[in-house]
Amino acid sequence: MIKVENLHRHFGAFRAVDGASLEIAKGSITGLVGPNGAGKTTLFNVIAGALEPTSGRVFMDGEDITGLPPHALFHKGLLRTFQIAHEFGSMSCRENLMMVPGGQSGEQLWNTWFGRKRIADEERAMKAKADEVLEFLTISHLADHPAGAISGGQKKLLELGRTMMVDAKIVFLDEVGAGVNRTLLMTIADTIVALNKERGYTFCVIEHDMDFIGRICDPVIVMAEGRKLAEGSLDEIKANEQVIEAYLGT
Ligand code: ADP
Repeated sequence: MIKVENLHRHFGAFRAVDGASLEIAKGSITGLVGPNGAGKTTLFNVIAGALEPTSGRVFMDGEDITGLPPHALFHKGLLRTFQIAHEFGSMSCRENLMMVPGGQSGEQLWNTWFGRKRIADEERAMKAKADEVLEFLTISHLADHPAGAISGGQKKLLELGRTMMVDAKIVFLDEVGAGVNRTLLMTIADTIVALNKERGYTFCVIEHDMDFIGRICDPVIVMAEGRKLAEGSLDEIKANEQVIEAYLGT
C-alpha cells in the first residue's frame, strides 16, 4: 500500500532520513522500531506530508504522493494521529470528534443560504457517528467531558477515534503508548486490531514498548541511522545481530 523509495530528509548536513526504502503491506499492522534518533518520526513526517523530503519518493497504491500536503493525503485516506491540541481541550470529547473534517456541507457558503435543514441533518448524523465511535472505544461515559480533562491514555483513544470519523485507509501512529498505563495500553492495542480486522485499516506504528509491538505488529521494521536495517517478526528481529548492535550502540 505504501512504498518508500530511497527517501532522504536532511537538516543542514545532518541526515535524519538517509536513503530509507521500505514497504507497508495493505492490511498489515507494521511496527516501526529503532533506537532514539533513528529517523522514525522524521520518516513519518515526510510520508504524512508535514515535511518535504530532500529526495526520494513515496507511493500509495502505486500513485506518487511525494510532497503532497496533509489535507490532500487526508482525502486519500492517509492519516496521522495528532495530539489533541491545547485549544480544543475545553471542548467535549464528542465535539472533538465532530470537528474532524469529512466534507461537511456546513463549511460551504452555499449552504449557509440554502442548506440549513441539510446542515441540521448532517450535524445529527455527525453526532450519531461520534457517539458510535465513543462506544466502540468504550469511552461513551466521557462524551460530554472536556477533552483536556481526560487521562493521557483516554486522549490516545480519542486520537484514534478521530481516524474513525472518516474512511481511513492507512493510519500512522507515533508512540500511542507513551505515558499510558498498562490496562489502557492493551485497550489501545485491541482497538487497533479491531480497526484492522473490522474496518480494514492498515497501520504503521512507532512504539518503544516491545510487548505492545509483539502483541499486534507483523512485520516489524527496524530503522537505524536513517534507513531500514532489518524486517521480520519480533522474534526474528530480536535475534538479528545487526539489530542488537544498533540498540547497544556498538
Ligand atoms: P526517532 O523518531 O527515531 O527518535 P527522529 O526522526 O525524531 O528520530 O530524529 C532523527 C534525528 O533528526 C535526531 O537526531 C533529531 O535531532 C534530528 N532532527 C529531527 N528533526 C529535526 C529538525 N527539525 N531540525 C534538526 N534536526 C532534526
